[in-house]
Amino acid sequence: MSAAAVFLDRDGVIIEERHYLRDPEEVVILPEAGPALRRLQDAGFRLMVVTNQSGVGRGYFTLADVSRVHARLEAELGRTGVRIERIYVAPEAPGQPSRGRKPSPQFLWDARDELGIDLSRSYMIGDKRIDLECGWNAGVRRCVLVRTGYGAATEREESGRLAEAVVCDDLAAAAAWILEDRRWAERGRPGLRAQAEPGAEGEQG
Ligand SMILES: [Mg+2]
Repeated sequence: MSAAAVFLDRDGVIIEERHYLRDPEEVVILPEAGPALRRLQDAGFRLMVVTNQSGVGRGYFTLADVSRVHARLEAELGRTGVRIERIYVAPEAPGQPSRGRKPSPQFLWDARDELGIDLSRSYMIGDKRIDLECGWNAGVRRCVLVRTGYGAATEREESGRLAEAVVCDDLAAAAAWILEDRRWAERGRPGLRAQAEPGAEGEQG
């Protein structure tokens, strides 16, 4: 069976949202991120980051700065045994021609074509609508909106248009939901409810 992946936005999902982050010293991993990613990894999911970094296209920083930030991110996550397999970066500013800038599904299709990822069994996690649209455009099983970063604001502003997304407090709850959804899928049942019931998002065994 081909592999399933969890695709993740970076800012506001794995690390604290910083406006145009360029300094590796300012990388702050959200406290639940390491253990949550480890759970997904241990369950067999391959982990990929998909990030728009328009600060490059706007001239605020360079791709080399982005690489330094990612080296720090990978080192910090590595301490908890988490391995990010690919980090896909779209460096263009909005309006510039771009191959993969979200909501484009291109990087997820690249993962499918180059790494054999089965998108129909994969998930996308983000804090903005473009993250969800990226996943929907690619054809992943489900998209999860986390309330960290811009997620709470996204939930407020997009209410009514997020019907297909799962909304979870943070990456820990998202990981728990995904693992439960996969158990349901493997039993041949339809997906869990889009909106988790209050109190149903935490540890589900
Ligand atoms: Mg984000």
